[in-house]
Amino acid sequence: MKFNTKTIHGGQEHEKATGAVMPPIFQTSTYAQSSPGVHKGYEYSRGANPTRTALENSLAAIENGTHGFAFSSGLSAIDCVLRLLKPGDEVITGDDLYGGSYRMFTKLFEKYGLKFHFVNMDLVTNITQKINKNTKLVWLETPTNPLMKIADIQAISTAVKNNNSSILVAVDNTFATPYIQQPLDLGADIVMHSATKYIGGHSDLVMGALVVKDKKLAEALHFIQFAAGAIAGPMDSFLALRGIKTLHIRMQRHCENGKAIAEFLNNHSKVDQVYYPGLKNHPNYAIAKTQMKDFGGMVSFRLKDKSKKAAFTVLENTKIFTLAESLGGVESLANHPVTMTHASIPEKERLKNGITDSLIRLSVGIEDITDLIADLEQALSV
Ligand SMILES: *Cc1c(COP(=O)(O)O)cnc(C)c1O
Repeated sequence: MKFNTKTIHGGQEHEKATGAVMPPIFQTSTYAQSSPGVHKGYEYSRGANPTRTALENSLAAIENGTHGFAFSSGLSAIDCVLRLLKPGDEVITGDDLYGGSYRMFTKLFEKYGLKFHFVNMDLVTNITQKINKNTKLVWLETPTNPLMKIADIQAISTAVKNNNSSILVAVDNTFATPYIQQPLDLGADIVMHSATKYIGGHSDLVMGALVVKDKKLAEALHFIQFAAGAIAGPMDSFLALRGIKTLHIRMQRHCENGKAIAEFLNNHSKVDQVYYPGLKNHPNYAIAKTQMKDFGGMVSFRLKDKSKKAAFTVLENTKIFTLAESLGGVESLANHPVTMTHASIPEKERLKNGITDSLIRLSVGIEDITDLIADLEQALSV
């Protein structure tokens, strides 16, 4: 099956009892047994629930994996991966990360004896240099949030595995989605999503996902999910599955609109710099072009006026772009990383990485592009 068919049919079967084309919302915690231990594959919904199973099979299909897991949030999915490690283990990750991932690494897991190295992912040697006998995991985000840096998944996976094949490579694929890139095909072991974003696609749920293609790894993750309990509920699983069925057409429009907005901003007299991997002046354009099928709907830009006030004026005056956290929904959103999504990163770290007061991040939705450009034009001229 091609990707555009997999989003609709991948891992799906009609419901057995009635033939329902969409899986019912199995709003149940438990399942009747005919004799102790004799059941139809479902015992208790922390372990498995049929609506969640349908979603998990879909997730596995669209990421070209074999096992999918749906969690109560993106962060609980990351938490599950980190619980594979033990005190003394080390993780190598990027220096431009989603704020919540950074907060989890430094504020929660460092306390339990894990060590994190934050490196610039532009050079593969920055990663291999940090590998030692305690290294267990390389955590990639590409494109990164909010500066849209691109890491070369294939080059990094190959270099890490050549060094030590037991080191796991995980990719946060939230920004790209499997429409744009499929990290398991590029050598990664684990794909992670904040399904809250493009997978769900309608800003109506909070959910996380993991997909793998190795049976042992799947068993280890399922054990942690079952033992720790951060599962997605049946209603949210239904909504996410419904979202996936239009992922390919939504992403096509997100990419078209994202590119048009990036080009508009790139030519605007009040804009200093635009961060979009599809622009030729993006420092990682060459890798982006080979690794990604298209460039997505996330665009960040910096105003020439460096004051916080200038950025706030733009953000207070957009009418179609809603000032809000989150991303990946059908509607366009604007965000001020310094005060909103990335407030948990210490100022010194933030400035070092270019997250300054005049930086604005857009999640470009699938509205009519002329309305979106007109909205930014008027907000930039206030
Ligand atoms: C939102 C986000 C997360 C966290 O996911 P939640 O669903 O909010 O817990 C992780 N990574 C990226 C890139 C995100 O955008």
